[in-house]
Amino acid sequence: MEAEKRYNYHALKVADNLCIGCTHCMQVCPTEAIRVRSKLAHINGTRCVDCGACVKACPTSAILIEHDDFNHIFKYEYRVALVPAVFIGQFADVYTTNQIYSALYELGFTNVCEVEHSVEILNEFAIEYYQNYQGEKPLISPYCPAIVRLIQGRFPALVENIMQVRPPVELSALYYQKKLLNKGIAPEQIGLFYVSPCAAKIAAVKNPISEQPGLFQGVINMDFLYNRVLRLLKNTTKPVELRNYKSSLTAKGVLWALTNGESDNMPGRTLAIDGIHNVIDFLELLENGEIHDVDFLELRACDHSCAGGILSHANRFLLVERMRKRAKRNADIKQNSDIRDIDKYKEYLTENGKTAEIPQLPMQNLDQDISKAIAKLQRQRKLMCFLPGIDCAACGAPTCSAFARDVVTRKADLSQCVFLQRMMEKHGKLSPEHAFKINEKIWGINRFEKDCYRKGAENENI
Ligand code: SF4
Ligand code: SF4
Repeated sequence: MEAEKRYNYHALKVADNLCIGCTHCMQVCPTEAIRVRSKLAHINGTRCVDCGACVKACPTSAILIEHDDFNHIFKYEYRVALVPAVFIGQFADVYTTNQIYSALYELGFTNVCEVEHSVEILNEFAIEYYQNYQGEKPLISPYCPAIVRLIQGRFPALVENIMQVRPPVELSALYYQKKLLNKGIAPEQIGLFYVSPCAAKIAAVKNPISEQPGLFQGVINMDFLYNRVLRLLKNTTKPVELRNYKSSLTAKGVLWALTNGESDNMPGRTLAIDGIHNVIDFLELLENGEIHDVDFLELRACDHSCAGGILSHANRFLLVERMRKRAKRNADIKQNSDIRDIDKYKEYLTENGKTAEIPQLPMQNLDQDISKAIAKLQRQRKLMCFLPGIDCAACGAPTCSAFARDVVTRKADLSQCVFLQRMMEKHGKLSPEHAFKINEKIWGINRFEKDCYRKGAENENI
């Protein structure tokens, strides 16, 4: 229960005034977390993994991603921006890394750190973890928080395969915090702000696996910050005052957030899979014992990994190309070189590199009582025989099986199925007026009484 409370934050919220109940979000959700009720989409927090697929599918931008108010940074004397390398990769080649960093300073940050600075240390730690691991392989990377949530909820038996290793952003935050504390700066003067490329990482900052909320003082939407920085860079009347920043991010660090970034640097037989539906397909095979001899899995929810993050402004193919070019430019920056200040903190970061145990949080729990859960599962299966099996979504659930589950857990009533309504009407168990009212409850009052003869009506729903 404690674990469930810890994971109850979600970065996504449906704006009721924008939602038109079109079901696009419901149909793409990989965990069947969405239902339509009273013409509005509702997200079930127990099933949502903050993957952002629904955000991409929504035609009215009704699914909002929450983040902290930018001005919150000014509460702190030392304002550290922890930016992912994909943030830099979004900008066209005409802008240098120094210009982008300088713009971040101009916006009010006093320190800027790319989160992948900790990757060299993390990679060594992860290899050691891999070598000492006694359990069943494959080990699974904990890098993508949407995947961690997916495994906790939908594949709980695989939770023990997830490496208990902190993500780069937490290690880099620990580094910067320690560096400032060592200078005698009081903890309350330090503000660590993560610039997130996706909703899942926003949720992970609020509910970290490491059980230490409070490491960050805030999280900022990467798309929002990109637009602020770009405006400064484009301002020719008042050009950004240039600092003297020299990139010390190694090629491995630059590429870490892209597909194969981790798997190419782990021992044994490794695989990299991106896109949440591809990941689900693969995990189903793994759970069924159909995958053998794989040692390490890099799994990322987004297509092209973080380059395809929902808060990334750039086209993901161009972004990947820019990052690969940057990695080539940075190829001669070696681990433990003089310019990599973070390497002085290696011992401290290695000591703090492990996360707490990751709990299972099953999504499919039909009942706390195991015998009742089995009875409900049997009823759910039985109901499938009565339902049409065409997944039309007219009941407000994405599939007939999701609807059957809702019925056995008392979240829906069988009379919401339009096929069963006809059967009930035929047998005199439901009046057409009552059936109409049930459908209005799902799809909204007056949804069925549109004036389709008025001017312009022919352009609706195209
Ligand atoms: S964020 Fe992903 S899991 Fe959550 S409701 Fe949207 S599509 Fe479903
Ligand atoms: S996609 Fe979902 S949130 Fe967006 S308008 Fe349609 S039902 Fe509402």
